[in-house]
Amino acid sequence: MPTPAYAAQAPDAALAPFTVTRREPGPHDVDIDILFCGVCHSDLHTARNEWGGTTYPVVPGHEIIGRVVRTGSHVTRHQAGDLVGVGCFTDTCRTCPNCRAGEESYCEGGISWTYNSQERGSGERTHGGYSTRIVADEHYVLRIPGNLAPDRAAPLLCAGITTWSPLRHWKVGPGMRVAVMGLGGLGHMGLKFAASFGAEVTVISQSPSKLSSDDAAMKAAKNRFDFILNTVSAPHDYNRYLQLLRLHGNMTLVGIPPEAIPVRANILVGQRRSLSGSLIGGIRETQEMLDHCGLHGIDCEVETIPMSYINEAYARMLRSDVRYRFVIDLASLK
Ligand code: NAP
Ligand code: ZN
Ligand code: ZN
Repeated sequence: MPTPAYAAQAPDAALAPFTVTRREPGPHDVDIDILFCGVCHSDLHTARNEWGGTTYPVVPGHEIIGRVVRTGSHVTRHQAGDLVGVGCFTDTCRTCPNCRAGEESYCEGGISWTYNSQERGSGERTHGGYSTRIVADEHYVLRIPGNLAPDRAAPLLCAGITTWSPLRHWKVGPGMRVAVMGLGGLGHMGLKFAASFGAEVTVISQSPSKLSSDDAAMKAAKNRFDFILNTVSAPHDYNRYLQLLRLHGNMTLVGIPPEAIPVRANILVGQRRSLSGSLIGGIRETQEMLDHCGLHGIDCEVETIPMSYINEAYARMLRSDVRYRFVIDLASLK
């Protein structure tokens, strides 16, 4: 199926109209009419080849919400008319220990990312949600609770699960002091989730208009936090923030600056601090997160934009000028 999309053709090229070919749905596939797609900083890193490994043309977008148009003959989880979501990956090997444990984002057998990747089996390039339709295996398609507004739910598919998963893994809850670094798309959801789990939450932001991380505030916060969720997308000195952890405190990186950043051993050794990372979350956990959001009315703060605004949106995201996630209305491309 020829499908309208927006693609980057080179690292320094603006995104522009492009046509992708979606496969005909197989027996286990769901054909989805895309309503909204969030704009993640990973889309920008990839479009500009900041991490290396981008194959052009690339159609970004992995915070996808849409309606099921039709289903393959063996599909049982979804039916035509359902509101569904697709996140950062659309297939994994299903047989490695991590897949079996429901940790598909850590698949060791070869993951099919939603874009800039290959379909398992066919080897066809994958293309993301900056487009009007997508076809995906039912196992990797999520149910969206009916009480959530589709545009405000879209960023849950990446920003939501990526912050939910480490907060759960590190058992953030009442009595814990938590800091969220970077109040962007991921950070604002980390703040909402950590607060909903009963933690005392502080935001560490470089944008003076949001909150401040000046020297006096940093000094006062030394040895203060049990857990720091670091969502910062650009290079910065980890050591400066690791010192804010108290005894046995952990800082988890979800932000992925392209550059390597040195860490000083003595800062980890003192107070037995730890530094770790976290990548998205599994399918079962993503559904749990979505159901929790439906139950508690948690969604994302968004600015809805037409597809043609995407290059301006990237420029503004780089200036931290978004409260707190751009979401593309794909009606603008139909
Ligand atoms: P975003 O909306 O642009 O937010 C990033 C925030 O980082 C900004 O809002 C800003 O917060 C802060 N920041 C930016 N430059 C900074 C600098 N030089 N120094 C200090 N703080 C700075 O991006 P996002 O979509 O939330 O993504 C954040 C990062 O997570 C990206 O690197 C993305 O690729 C990565 N990511 C990782 C995963 C994963 O599975 N691990 C999943 C999705 C995204 P303030 O304005 O508050 O300072
Ligand atoms: Zn993302
Ligand atoms: Zn696997």
